[in-house]
Amino acid sequence: MAVLVPHTSHQLVRDIQSLLTQNRNILVRWIKAHAGYGGNEDADTLAKKAITEGVVMKALNPRCELKQHLQELFLKKWQNLCDNGNTGRSVLKVLKTVHLKPVFWTREKILFVTGHGPFPSFLNRFHLSDSDSCTCGEVGDPIHYATSCPLTLSWHIRKSSTSLESLWYQRVLGNPNSRIIIINMIKFIIDNENIMRLE
Ligand SMILES: [Zn+2]
Repeated sequence: MAVLVPHTSHQLVRDIQSLLTQNRNILVRWIKAHAGYGGNEDADTLAKKAITEGVVMKALNPRCELKQHLQELFLKKWQNLCDNGNTGRSVLKVLKTVHLKPVFWTREKILFVTGHGPFPSFLNRFHLSDSDSCTCGEVGDPIHYATSCPLTLSWHIRKSSTSLESLWYQRVLGNPNSRIIIINMIKFIIDNENIMRLE
């Protein structure tokens, strides 16, 4: 019961508490509702009257409720920025919804998902290399190495032409075996960076 909370922020509850301390003859106890108790029926009638005729009162929400509300608004805004923004597109393939819990990814997994690593596509995009081509001639991005490049044949993971790229990423990273394959493939690319791209 709210009246038992010693330091309440609700003025109405504080008023009731003060009335109760001033009138020690009033005993507060639980009774069955709608059972014909005179006082309870009167209170119900007054409550209904307050709903239809009463004055709108602004009661302060408790701090924890406010915090939760702000967090919900913040997550909604963040999600909206993620869905409609220009950055973080690659991470969105795997993490569809934003949340405050940290995600622990290995270095290789981060390189694979973000594409920010020793891949010709990345090096070219950031003007660190003149070409975005792999030695084999195709565009050297993570998905190329994981699915079709002859240089990384031992670590290939099948990708059907119809499946969406984001679904493929989720399926690959959701499977412990393919995660290991990807980590080993990225390690190989890091160790052999210079033979992976056309100079
Ligand atoms: Zn290649």
